[in-house]
Amino acid sequence: MTTIFDKILSGEIPCDEVFSDNKCLAFKDITPQAPTHILIIPRKPIPSLQDIKKEDQELLGHLLLKGTEIANAAGLESWRTIINTGEEAGQTVFHLHIHIIGGRKLSWPPG
Ligand code: IMP
Repeated sequence: MTTIFDKILSGEIPCDEVFSDNKCLAFKDITPQAPTHILIIPRKPIPSLQDIKKEDQELLGHLLLKGTEIANAAGLESWRTIINTGEEAGQTVFHLHIHIIGGRKLSWPPG
């Protein structure tokens, strides 16, 4: 199934790009939940964490490492890294993505 993130990856839909390499793309969330809200997506079309395979281990580590680099580059000292998995957990786009959210005090537990 083609998602809006596939269209962003192909250039069909624009994004506010933060970082790009041959494995992933990072861009600002269109509906930011905090002063910094960045999404990191793999170029590989993995729908969610429910679909990851052993072969994705290096890619997932890469995404997390880039998340820290991106958070540091954004000047964040604290941030939250979120991967919503499945509809009940709040996943709305079924192309795996990591949220990097920071720049304000965040409450816990999440709703
Ligand atoms: P989810 O709810 O974890 O699936 O997160 C999907 C995120 O994608 C939401 O925070 C949306 O605001 C964001 N989003 C949806 N469409 C776009 C877009 O076109 N550009 C940037 N972010 C988007």
